[in-house]
Amino acid sequence: MAFETITKAPSVRAHAALTDEIRENFTWEDARAMLDGLPGGKLNIAHEALDRHLPDHGGQTALIWLGKDGARREFTYADLVAETARFANVLHANGLNMGSRVYGLMGREPELYIATLGTLKAGCVFSPLFSAFGPEPIRTRMEIADANALVTTASLYKRKVKAWADELPSLKLILIVGDEAPEGCVALSPAMAEASPEFDTVPMDPEDTSLIHFTSGTTGKPKGAVHVHAAVAYHAMTGRYALEMRPETVFWCTADPGWVTGTSYGIIAPLVNRTTMIVDEAEFDLDRWYGILQDEAVAVWYTAPTAIRMLMRSGKDAAQPYDFSALRFMASVGEPLNPEAVVWGNEVFGQPFHDNWWQTETGGIVIANTLAMDVKPGSMGKPLPGQVATIVERDDGSVRELGPGEIGELALRPGWPSMMRAYLHEEARYYKAFAGGWYLTGDLAMQDGDGYFWFVGRADDLIKTSGHLIGPFEVESALIEHEAVAEAGVIGLPDETAGEVVRAYVCLNPGFEPSEDLEKSIRGLARKKLGPAVAPREVLFRESLPKTRSGKIMRRLLKARELGLPEGDISTLETDEK
Ligand code: AMP
Repeated sequence: MAFETITKAPSVRAHAALTDEIRENFTWEDARAMLDGLPGGKLNIAHEALDRHLPDHGGQTALIWLGKDGARREFTYADLVAETARFANVLHANGLNMGSRVYGLMGREPELYIATLGTLKAGCVFSPLFSAFGPEPIRTRMEIADANALVTTASLYKRKVKAWADELPSLKLILIVGDEAPEGCVALSPAMAEASPEFDTVPMDPEDTSLIHFTSGTTGKPKGAVHVHAAVAYHAMTGRYALEMRPETVFWCTADPGWVTGTSYGIIAPLVNRTTMIVDEAEFDLDRWYGILQDEAVAVWYTAPTAIRMLMRSGKDAAQPYDFSALRFMASVGEPLNPEAVVWGNEVFGQPFHDNWWQTETGGIVIANTLAMDVKPGSMGKPLPGQVATIVERDDGSVRELGPGEIGELALRPGWPSMMRAYLHEEARYYKAFAGGWYLTGDLAMQDGDGYFWFVGRADDLIKTSGHLIGPFEVESALIEHEAVAEAGVIGLPDETAGEVVRAYVCLNPGFEPSEDLEKSIRGLARKKLGPAVAPREVLFRESLPKTRSGKIMRRLLKARELGLPEGDISTLETDEK
């Protein structure tokens, strides 16, 4: 069924931050002009997000934290400046300095926001970890960038880190949120209380590393995408143009802080744009979410398709009792947004969800439906100012650009400030992502005659489940650690709510027979190692798995066979691993 374009009234367009005029005349200087900067051409994200708002706006609420149990805490910009200064002092007092790598492993707790910006303030590099990861993905990621410090909770530490922390020679400091810490760790609250609330933010070169965001690959280890302080210009600009952030806007990003959206648009962009951020500690709950939108008078809401689909499942009536009149703009990211969801948003909230597209490597939103644009339900929108996007076909190391309506790989012209600068320690893998002057995204898409982009699918085997990008190789590696498993192939299975769910196929070692108990035992081990968000939901037994002549499991063929898809289409989807 075709969905009608949702046109915007002139009164709506009149309020849009991104006008046609800005689009036409935009230069990167305009983005950099949104920053304050530090003397001598230096920069620090923490300065742009916090310090620069003092003294004039120190009293403005920067963060409203809603605890699971009904607690509510407010932090002003002045509070966050002081708290992040204390955190930076704690790091320096413990021997960390410029370039040291600090990892964060926790849910949406105030300390995470303080730790992220305090780390940047101190000139250190921050790397967020998804708190639902099991011990194995955490360890792998901490090893790749030689973690020097970890900030976490006592419970996460005991369950996921303690057993192997000693084996990581680079790890010098483990900070535990709260008043007490297990042996060998430092309790954060007393350390913060002793530290000074004054700290001179370390001036950084714009090209100095700020954050390392891990993302999955189809083979080998996860990739550490290296980002720099200069990216903050892009966060300032896209916060304003793609998400309609203005000073004092009440902004709610529902993304988990363990993934890139939770940092770029759940911490940096909203603070740089001096909004008031809502942070909800709890997981999705329909009444809680509608209640927050209403009670906190949320003006801009940035969420994700899985959550929107869960809201839709409860029907329009569930939204009826609530007042959403404060809501000016709604956006979605992370997975394909069904056209039905866009239209449903328009019916329930009086405006469509504005889908936008980006990925860990791009550091910020690249393609978007902005407020001034008419929305074609199902489309990701158009490239933001400064971005050049196209559709290409790879052709033996070079690429050929395709025309409107043709499906190929989404490619971007490199050069925007928040683009990754490297995959840490993986030069070859990084350069493989570029060809013919384009950055190749690994996504299949199509551009229509009006310049709107439409997502088609991944060009590789990566799985998106509830918005989390999962590398099948990492799951397969955990599965074959079970004594019964000889080989494993992992694919994403379409799912109405989560987009995809992880399913594993295994062949058994001699002496083992398929059984329900064995399935449970394999699944249990995977859960323990990988965490529930990554482990397969189902494990199926097979006599053999389809393989290439060199012995590589052909996940695409496996998927086609298992799901009854035409195998003929498979070869057209094969591209190089990114
Ligand atoms: P991540 O690097 O974990 O943020 O995942 C990025 C990937 O998520 C992209 O390469 C896409 O495959 C997918 N993705 C992100 N945004 C969208 C969107 N609006 N529509 C469809 N897929 C998306």
